[in-house]
Amino acid sequence: MNYISTRGNQEKKTFWQGVLQGLAPDGGLYVPEELPSIDFHDYVDLDYRDLAVEVLSLFVDPEDRDKIKSCVLRGYKNSFFKENLIDLHQEEDFSVLELYHGQTAAFKDFALALLPQFMKEASKEKLLILTATSGDTGKAAMEGFKNVEGIDIVVFYPHQGVSEIQYLQMATQEGDNTHSLAIQGNFDDAQRGVKELFLDQDLKSHLEKNQVHLSSANSINIGRLLPQCIYYIYAYLQLVKKGTLTYGDKLDVVVPTGNFGNILAGYLAQKMGLPLGDFVCASNKNNVLSDFLETGVYDINRPFFKTSSPSMDILVSSNVERFLYFLTGDAKKVKKLQEDLAQKGRYEVDQDLKDKMASWHGYFAQEEEVQEEICRIYREKNYLMDPHTAVASLCYQKYKRDFAPQGHALILSTASPYKFPHTVLKALGQEGDWTDKEAIDHLADLTGKEVPSVIRNLWVKTQKPEEVISCQEMKKIVEKIGDGE
Ligand SMILES: *Cc1c(COP(=O)(O)O)cnc(C)c1O
Repeated sequence: MNYISTRGNQEKKTFWQGVLQGLAPDGGLYVPEELPSIDFHDYVDLDYRDLAVEVLSLFVDPEDRDKIKSCVLRGYKNSFFKENLIDLHQEEDFSVLELYHGQTAAFKDFALALLPQFMKEASKEKLLILTATSGDTGKAAMEGFKNVEGIDIVVFYPHQGVSEIQYLQMATQEGDNTHSLAIQGNFDDAQRGVKELFLDQDLKSHLEKNQVHLSSANSINIGRLLPQCIYYIYAYLQLVKKGTLTYGDKLDVVVPTGNFGNILAGYLAQKMGLPLGDFVCASNKNNVLSDFLETGVYDINRPFFKTSSPSMDILVSSNVERFLYFLTGDAKKVKKLQEDLAQKGRYEVDQDLKDKMASWHGYFAQEEEVQEEICRIYREKNYLMDPHTAVASLCYQKYKRDFAPQGHALILSTASPYKFPHTVLKALGQEGDWTDKEAIDHLADLTGKEVPSVIRNLWVKTQKPEEVISCQEMKKIVEKIGDGE
């Protein structure tokens, strides 16, 4: 099984090399040269870990199966997740896949519990992980890498661009090898900065003096992407087991989308043979993606909004590049589009590509709509959604209105409502001058829904002071950490 760049660099890599490199030398993203084709029905009785071992083993050489198995057992050890790795909350015509029962109460735990294990397996050398985060990745990555020997991790997040709880999660992070820094800018600035550091030859040679190698934990890393396929497969098979689906029925999926990694993993699962139906890509007011899917024009020349679903406040969704590659199989075309994006902030895909996206639908939710949706779902179903999940739920309503789908749908729920207590309370008509902790307690009293212990415990841990830097200072800081300072 080989990995190649979305931009046509012919050099073939193993999974492990792709994991270590993060970004391909030509600036593209690693993709498997071909996707395995699987009859997932055979896997219906597997538990989550065994399913992960089976599926992920297909993405490495056969002799590496044991390596994958030990990564999965270490990464998904019992203490990392509660007993219910995943919950499926079922309503009449849709189910909500709750992906937030991990260490940081957000779905990124699924990938970020495994990535450090892949890296440890892949390298005997010292590694320095650079990550840009819009809030959740940073914490989940630091948690995954915490005290992993030989690896340091540096996380850059937008100053005042994350929720208070996300901030607190990072400020209370344990582990001498974890570093978090606020940058003066938004998530795109952080992401661009990190991308530039990876291509910086001067930084590379500086670090190599200390035998330190750079790597990434961002959702551009192929080791992040593949583990996310598993929960689509698992959820589908659970719905078959429950009798909600008969194997082969099309299951539509609705995904609250930012960097496009989560939804792309669903697409890969479909390409491997999972009977998924339509893809509904849900955006907030930063609606680049919904415009793209509807018009074929990807255009970032527009205002950037800070919304109540901050993990989706993104204009450049990196994983769209892989999507274009899988749709066309044409690295030249992908390269041209990405060049247009870099130069003009915009590209337009041709009719052929538009036709290939026919079962993809982009919708977006305005801020008031998110509030109304949280409230509606709570009142009608006694179910509590976080703002990201509510964006998806609202977009599902719009999709239903336009397409009247007959089958069942799966809404991916990416964070616990208790990560965004003020927004959720406001949606329920409760406004007050509360601290986050008070807001959480109030929300719990009001709804009777249990607060995840990983959130409740944030207030008893010691906080580090925040360090704010400019984008220009990122390189200097990384050099220092590489020097062991
Ligand atoms: C990261 C994140 C998203 C967006 O996922 P992508 O894979 O970047 O599209 C949505 N919701 C939450 C809570 C997140 O943390």
